[in-house]
Amino acid sequence: MVHIENLTFGYGAGGFRLRVPEFTLAEGERVAVVGPSGSGKTTLLNLIAGILTPEAGRIDVAGTEVSGLSDARRRRFRASRIGFVFQDFALLDYLSARQNICYPYRITPALTLDKEARERAESLAAACGIGDKLDRHPSELSQGEQQRVAICRALVTQPGLILSDEATGNLDPDSKARILDLLFEQAALAGAAVLAVTHDHELLPRFERVLDFAQFRAAPET
Ligand code: ADP
Ligand code: MG
Repeated sequence: MVHIENLTFGYGAGGFRLRVPEFTLAEGERVAVVGPSGSGKTTLLNLIAGILTPEAGRIDVAGTEVSGLSDARRRRFRASRIGFVFQDFALLDYLSARQNICYPYRITPALTLDKEARERAESLAAACGIGDKLDRHPSELSQGEQQRVAICRALVTQPGLILSDEATGNLDPDSKARILDLLFEQAALAGAAVLAVTHDHELLPRFERVLDFAQFRAAPET
């Protein structure tokens, strides 16, 4: 589902640098990403999602070289094929929770917000415990509720790849386990692969593989 080869990326001269010689995420595979804060975990997810572009190397997602697409195509590819739970949620406050969840359908001509999609949004929200909050705006929701909206938005299109950046970070232990259950259950339904950054070590046994991020740090360019 994801293949990375000889990837290098840097935030400007003297900034943080990342080097990933090789990484593969198989179809349907569930991999946890761990590593200290500032080690580049979010940067890697942004590169895979095509939000950032590498300096060198290539990134393939579902057989498409995302690193070779134009900006507009990358955006469309992301919206239709990748579910991304952002670390800061990235919800839009002028939209209701329901509209945020259905946002991928607004911005992707290839996706149609039909009855089935609306029902999926509702049932995901209910499964996450925010079924009665769908008409509220993000600023009227708690952190944990906003996080659930972000998770529903990532799952609603049944993407083949789910990227999750500390999606369980703001939740209590019971909710963490439940949200991960839901994430995995939805991923299994769609046959999706999951790459999830997490600091919750008690959740790691639930993944098939754990990727320790410390290994990818590159020395700053001089
Ligand atoms: P993590 O998610 O593992 O905490 P990040 O990928 O967010 O790490 O950040 C890795 C490093 O890159 C950090 O040192 C951070 O300060 C730096 N960084 C992140 N975003 C930017 C940016 N937009 N411009 C410059 N440096 C950045
Ligand atoms: Mg991060």
